Amino acid sequence: MGRIEKKKKLIVERANRKMLGESEMDCPKAAKDLELNTKNRNSAIKADHIKYGPLNVDEPGDYWKDLAEHWDTTEEAAKKSLCGNCVAFDISPRMDDCMPGKTSDDDGRLGYCWMHNFKCHSARTCYTWAKGGPINGDDVSYDWQERNQE
Ligand code: SF4
Repeated sequence: MGRIEKKKKLIVERANRKMLGESEMDCPKAAKDLELNTKNRNSAIKADHIKYGPLNVDEPGDYWKDLAEHWDTTEEAAKKSLCGNCVAFDISPRMDDCMPGKTSDDDGRLGYCWMHNFKCHSARTCYTWAKGGPINGDDVSYDWQERNQE
């Protein structure tokens, strides 16, 4: 099946599910599959172009210093570019329904990262952070998922 046919099929499927009052798409696989989520998260921690972290937000070590050097900015500025305000951080209502349980703690909350496909935390960040988030609406969330499937 070609790209356009696939897209058409997806649009019809979404419209039908919406008409039936169902969620328009299934949850992304990693949101439900612990093994896949962990694999993707570990890759995001290790990859030199991603470096997801810090592991412990209370004991960040040199994480923010290194990040500031990477962005050629101050630590204070680097700490303002977090998953919580990243363009790929999905905390839409439909994504909340995909989460396995409680999503918040004292430092923030969990959401789904569409760039690296795992559940990330709003108080962490990575080298591929991009301005413009978070994703709050279901429509935007479905659009990211659709583009992920292309
Ligand atoms: S949400 Fe953004 S900052 Fe967080 S891991 Fe994903 S791409 Fe990186």
